[in-house]
Amino acid sequence: MAVTKLAKNKVRPIDWYEYYFHDPIRSEGLFWAFCPLASFSVAQQGMVSRTRKTGQKMGLEKGSTSLGPLSAFSSIVRENQPLSPFTWLQIGGPTRYFIEPNDESQLVAVVQACAGSGIPMRILGGGANLLVREAGFDGATISLTSPAFSQMKHVENTIVCNAGAKLSHLIAFSVGAGLGGLEHLVGIPGTVGGALYGNAGTDEGDIGQVVLSAKLLTKEGRVVEATGQQLAFSHRVSSLDELVILDATFQLERGEVRGLTKREQTFWILKRSKQPSFPERAAVAFVDPDGYKAAELLQQSGFNGASEGAVRLSSTYPNFLIAAAGATSTQVLTLLERVREGVADRTGVQLQFHLQIW
Ligand SMILES: Cc1cc2nc3c(=O)[nH]c(=O)nc-3n(C[C@H](O)[C@H](O)[C@H](O)COP(=O)(O)OP(=O)(O)OC[C@H]3O[C@@H](n4cnc5c(N)ncnc54)[C@H](O)[C@@H]3O)c2cc1C
Repeated sequence: MAVTKLAKNKVRPIDWYEYYFHDPIRSEGLFWAFCPLASFSVAQQGMVSRTRKTGQKMGLEKGSTSLGPLSAFSSIVRENQPLSPFTWLQIGGPTRYFIEPNDESQLVAVVQACAGSGIPMRILGGGANLLVREAGFDGATISLTSPAFSQMKHVENTIVCNAGAKLSHLIAFSVGAGLGGLEHLVGIPGTVGGALYGNAGTDEGDIGQVVLSAKLLTKEGRVVEATGQQLAFSHRVSSLDELVILDATFQLERGEVRGLTKREQTFWILKRSKQPSFPERAAVAFVDPDGYKAAELLQQSGFNGASEGAVRLSSTYPNFLIAAAGATSTQVLTLLERVREGVADRTGVQLQFHLQIW
């Protein structure tokens, strides 16, 4: 992974930290290896910030082309930035503009500038559910990696959390604060924004079930509020029409820190037993259809281990895609389409892609 390699070349201690915490797979693995400790320290701090400085060391030539309508934001915009280092599958082409606003007011200004110039926009979370095509994205990819987008605080039985925070950090924070209701989501990689967008969840429930309200930013750059009901969460879907989830308020239940930590650890062990181990470049292939498990349908239809080029479905956990060196997004899409058709022929069940395709 490009970011990892670049970070490794430097020897300052901070880069060792960045080396591990830039890499989403290692980051999640390490974080949860020290799960109880993390819960404790996060609770002690009372606040978490995400300090990924991805891309600053990518070595792209600055000012090689004009930023046009985004020239006022030159310090936070890079052109033709490859997106592959930002996705778990580590595949995909560049984005025309890669923008990392420093705070909400700058984000609003960026969105208004893009909207005013007709530049299409997309929001990047942790890249754990993203497949970027080789052609990339001819628009602005906005990344909420600044610490300003990762703050969280608890007020009585609620937590207000910015969308750029890692879901794992939110869970650790809530457990440390003695607030239960998120522990079953442990081990789901990515950000709070990505989890809300796709209503991430497990057999125990979805994140949408504990959302009281959310603050959103429209495509025109207006900040609006929505209740949990208005977001109409259903299985792996939210009805989000707006461009950006800025933050969400979670309604949780009081509990003992010790008991919640145990619950979280138990869910973590369970989760780890159901997915490939962290060094792999992995992604969830299909959404579980109503009344079925995608993994079982794939197994029954003989698609566990199915491959296309350097991409395969795991033999052990068939609903996970694994990418090896040389994998392309075309291979991923070809494999997913072939498998979807095969499962429909053999079982009559139509599978939906879990990955968001850019
Ligand atoms: C090993 C592994 C295990 C997984 N296990 C599970 C699981 O058990 N359950 C589950 O549900 N998923 C699972 N996933 C999928 C993935 O972790 C979730 O979909 C996760 O919520 C994606 O979050 P992200 O921040 O990485 O989003 P990204 O992949 O970056 O983005 C996904 C979508 O969300 C949108 N988005 C992100 N942030 C925002 C924002 N702030 N505002 C508006 N839109 C936004 C993006 O534009 C994109 O369309 C797993 C993935 C992996 C690799």
